[in-house]
Amino acid sequence: MELGPSHWPEISMVCNGTRQSPINISKSTTNNSLDDFVFHNYNATPLVTTVTYNGHTGQFQVTVPSDTLMIHGGGLNDIYNLAQFHFHWGSNDSYGSEHLDHGKAYPGEIHFVHWHSGKYSNLNESFKHDDGVAVLGVFIDVVQDANDPRISKDLAKLTDYFVNIKFPGNQTNCAPFTLASLLPKNLTYYRYLGSLTTPDCSEIVTWTVYQSPIYITSDQMAKFRHFHRMEHLDEDLDHTNRPVQPLYNREVYNSPTSFSSSSSSSSFFSSPSPLSAFVFFRAGIQGQCVKMMMALVFTSISFHSFFQCEINC
Ligand SMILES: [Zn+2]
Repeated sequence: MELGPSHWPEISMVCNGTRQSPINISKSTTNNSLDDFVFHNYNATPLVTTVTYNGHTGQFQVTVPSDTLMIHGGGLNDIYNLAQFHFHWGSNDSYGSEHLDHGKAYPGEIHFVHWHSGKYSNLNESFKHDDGVAVLGVFIDVVQDANDPRISKDLAKLTDYFVNIKFPGNQTNCAPFTLASLLPKNLTYYRYLGSLTTPDCSEIVTWTVYQSPIYITSDQMAKFRHFHRMEHLDEDLDHTNRPVQPLYNREVYNSPTSFSSSSSSSSFFSSPSPLSAFVFFRAGIQGQCVKMMMALVFTSISFHSFFQCEINC
């Protein structure tokens, strides 16, 4: 039997905690230390990408080679590797996002889940700590016109693969696409400390919620719901968004107005081989510093990443 969110405290008391997510973001304070993120390989193609339907949680998970995609900056002060990303949606276009922006719900929300690779040795270890996870949340909105230039073509294409994954555990490979194409044009974001939005609701997430959505058509949005019905899932899983939770005494901050996410932005890097080496170093291998730095020089890594290595050597 599937249990809805109101029953989650019976599974894990943490779900009744004071640092729970999602929340309605009703007010925020500008924090100038919330600088732009640096996205490593978010604009790299091709990626080997697998879409999996996880029947238990009612979510899709898209996995990518986690050691080649990472973020830093964004007020996080360290490196976080992408573990997976997945979607939340509602039974119609009037709701479905987990976070609300001043009471406004969007039809969907993408979560890019990153673990704290700069501090912890692996994903499981990272999930045990209150600074272990950084999630980037991107709202999905719908437009009526299929030719609307704001439509994310890659997200639209991704929904076409959902028809191949009808049953829990099914997975399918999809055509390469860049994760950068799933980020909004304007990267101004909210920041607060919260939790995972499914049991055990661990209070380990530094949340980033972008203020601007990305767009698909209503027909494309409907593809998120189609296989719920095909799976004859319990009504509680007809939607996959947890209701908003009390803020308690937490502060919500917003970044200053941000740069565009266009591929020309200096916030994106896509040099797979030196970055793989970079991760290897950050994983805690001792005595590799000089070797690492030489590798970085010979592969013409950006000055920025070189500088990061220098600090941590
Ligand atoms: Zn999520």
